[in-house]
Amino acid sequence: MTDTTSPEPKRIALVAHDHRKGDLLEWAEYNRDILADHILYATGTTGRLLGESLDLPVTCFQSGPLGGDQQIGALIASGRLDMLIFFWDPMSPQPHDSDVKALVRIAVVWNIPIACNRNSADYLITSPLLGRTGGLAHEPLVGSLG
Ligand code: PGA
Repeated sequence: MTDTTSPEPKRIALVAHDHRKGDLLEWAEYNRDILADHILYATGTTGRLLGESLDLPVTCFQSGPLGGDQQIGALIASGRLDMLIFFWDPMSPQPHDSDVKALVRIAVVWNIPIACNRNSADYLITSPLLGRTGGLAHEPLVGSLG
């Protein structure tokens, strides 16, 4: 028998540093129809720009330097995020470098799929796993790193 139930939407956070925002917006516009099936979160400025250009609901946290990265980290640590698209800027120092490092770290700790450039984001957003019913399994790595 064929499963006709629609897959649960995944919870996806999108974050881009200033020099990467153009890249993320272009990528998100290209993938708008896929993103429309999911629940979107973003840091403040990224989220406002995405909401305007995609005309989709985006839950916006604080701007990154004001704590938005930490808020997304908290979603991950509480099991409420399935994917992170994080276009961080490898060429410029950020006032919140420690938060950037912490966000990448907590995503790895909780085994959250994370893409930091367009090619990786393309692979994640077209993954057949996205269409799977049920949440993605998130288990912290802590035990295996012992
Ligand atoms: P922003 O924050 O979306 O508010 O610009 C992104 C970041 O710097 O982490």
